[in-house]
Amino acid sequence: MPQLLFADQLGPHFDLGEPIVLVESFGRLAARPFHWQKAHLILSAIRHRALDENVTLVRADSYREYLATNDTVFAAVNPTSFGYRKLVNSDRFEVVPSRGFVTSEEDFAAWAESKAGKRLLLEDFYRSTRRRTGLLMEGVDPVGGAWNFDHDNRLPAPKKVTSLGVAQPWQPDEDDIDAQVRRDLTQWHAEGKIRLVGHDGPRLFAVTREEALAALEHFVAERLDLFGPYEDAGLTGDWAMAHSLLSVPLNLGLLDPLEVAHIAEAAYHSGNARLSSVEGFVRQIAGWRDFVWHLYWHFGQDYTDLNYLNATTALPTSWEELSPSAIDAACVSHTIEKVADRGWLHHIERLMILGNIALQRGLNPKQLNEWFINSFVDGTPWVMPANVIGMSQFADGGKMSTKPYAGGGAYISKMTNYCGGCSFDPKVRVGENACPVTAGYWAFLDRNEKPLAGNFRMAQPMAAMRKMVDRVAIRDQENRRGTSL
Ligand SMILES: Cc1cc2nc3c(=O)[nH]c(=O)nc-3n(C[C@H](O)[C@H](O)[C@H](O)COP(=O)(O)OP(=O)(O)OC[C@H]3O[C@@H](n4cnc5c(N)ncnc54)[C@H](O)[C@@H]3O)c2cc1C
Ligand code: SF4
Repeated sequence: MPQLLFADQLGPHFDLGEPIVLVESFGRLAARPFHWQKAHLILSAIRHRALDENVTLVRADSYREYLATNDTVFAAVNPTSFGYRKLVNSDRFEVVPSRGFVTSEEDFAAWAESKAGKRLLLEDFYRSTRRRTGLLMEGVDPVGGAWNFDHDNRLPAPKKVTSLGVAQPWQPDEDDIDAQVRRDLTQWHAEGKIRLVGHDGPRLFAVTREEALAALEHFVAERLDLFGPYEDAGLTGDWAMAHSLLSVPLNLGLLDPLEVAHIAEAAYHSGNARLSSVEGFVRQIAGWRDFVWHLYWHFGQDYTDLNYLNATTALPTSWEELSPSAIDAACVSHTIEKVADRGWLHHIERLMILGNIALQRGLNPKQLNEWFINSFVDGTPWVMPANVIGMSQFADGGKMSTKPYAGGGAYISKMTNYCGGCSFDPKVRVGENACPVTAGYWAFLDRNEKPLAGNFRMAQPMAAMRKMVDRVAIRDQENRRGTSL
């Protein structure tokens, strides 16, 4: 029985040992705006995978259109979105359980059930995964005697430098397939058949198994050691800092996260990377990545409709069009420019700059969720809801996080050097040079006093906001400012 392989199942761990059919679906590309570089990565990955002799590449408008041309029954690895699960839920498919994550759906369901309706916590899930897999464990104890090393990590960006000085990230050499992909995208975009946003640019991420392994090896040998300390920091001259840039090959299914975690662990045991960095990285790969995947199914399809804080503001045009020039706030303009240039930001820029601004300005969470999927090279339907609706926008009212991830300019000023080039002052909340992130934070608390009243973790900042003599002035100022930052 041939296997229908989905475009995010491209690595060997998805191969069921049957002849493979791979569909390049034009309709998928035309259905929503895509970042240039994301569309390139997907097409390039599919076309490279189709070079294998057991793979037949089919070009069709959609999977359904292709299925209508034959009556073959296919094997398939359970796909990664509600839409595709509906497609394979028919007598045309024999489906095996999903792959490409550390914890199976069955094991997650059992773990979640054991929590008896209490909030599911990443820390619990992560520890249970470590215990089950033996990752960074010595018998029943965590290696190094602690489950996390946060006190060694999360340092502010180093002063008086604009880059971290770590080895440059691995970068692929483009080939004839990339050249053809670029020609096709340029033509389809010019003909108005697809809508591409951001800039085209040299391919920065792995799209084949070979490339993915090379990227992984380079990261572990050259960059992993500094991953932990500067995980949350940002420097204007260093777009990647010491991050792995592995989300693209992981989300294309080219790397198995458990193999990635084991290789990182080996770097600690061989003395090539410090424990705090390795633990921090394993937590991302085997903890957070799996956690948000399982929450996608656990919270269900309607989760993206949640809007606890009743946030209804439309996304600014500068975000929709990835056009930084009209934005004065240096942190926002810098990050939007990076999204336009590469379709990638590191975690804290996604969460504490763009996510935080969106939360403060009351951007519509569902629209924001779609925007993140469209604009980021690693964006997928499963990865976004827990990250955007839950973690960053608190639109689920606290199913995912105990409090909103809102912060003022002081945090950005401490962790990055972005404020240096800004016309606003992170310490000022009212007046000409009032920082929109600082003032926006207080205006957010003011606006959401009622829905956040019962949240004990917000009690202290709420009390401080209520005592502020300039509460009304900030409210008026930020209402006038709106999304014009
Ligand atoms: C608002 C928002 C949007 C995000 N959008 C995406 C997205 O579209 N695709 C995506 O893969 N991740 C997303 N993330 C998670 C995280 O920011 C990215 O995985 C990470 O920045 C990718 O860069 P990297 O590969 O260098 O990661 P590193 O910092 O090197 O981390 C290693 C790996 O850990 C995994 N990881 C870490 N945190 C998370 C997380 N919260 N959710 C899922 N995986 C995680 C990723 O696979 C990543 O490659 C988002 C987070 C937020 C807050
Ligand atoms: S001063 Fe405020 S707006 Fe400017 S970069 Fe810093 S945090 Fe952003």
